[in-house]
Amino acid sequence: MSKFVMRVATALFAALAFGFVAVPLASAQEAPAETEFEAAWSYTIESSCAGWEGVIRQGANYWGGASEGGGTPVRCQNSAITDCGFFAEGVETTDVHGNLIVVGCNYGMGQLIKLYPGAVNDPALLAAHEFGHNWYGHSYNGCASWASPTDVMATTMC
Ligand SMILES: [Zn+2]
Repeated sequence: MSKFVMRVATALFAALAFGFVAVPLASAQEAPAETEFEAAWSYTIESSCAGWEGVIRQGANYWGGASEGGGTPVRCQNSAITDCGFFAEGVETTDVHGNLIVVGCNYGMGQLIKLYPGAVNDPALLAAHEFGHNWYGHSYNGCASWASPTDVMATTMC
């Protein structure tokens, strides 16, 4: 990755952190401690995610009630996400250079999800996290895990 992209990603992280502090979770709810199955919702895996369909489905199914077709488009890319807006919630990971990059973004709580699945150890967890932003904000700053919905909604893929 170029230095330019790294600088952009760092600036984005700062902006997101600022947004998180200044506008706590906006309209998003706090994730529940136990899995609560969501009402029926849907998503569409775009062709850019060829090869990642299985992990994306696994992430979607974590929340229950999911079906494919219509709903939230899911788009994949092989580079850090650099246009996750000020109020959108990004999820960060550390690249091989130790820099924070944005690897997932949910735009407008379900209008569009972008993933960089190749950047993380557990792309299904990344997908579950981003789908979770259809309803929930971040739970805390730290490593996400499958332990509970609250852990899925932590800020960082470690
Ligand atoms: Zn997030």
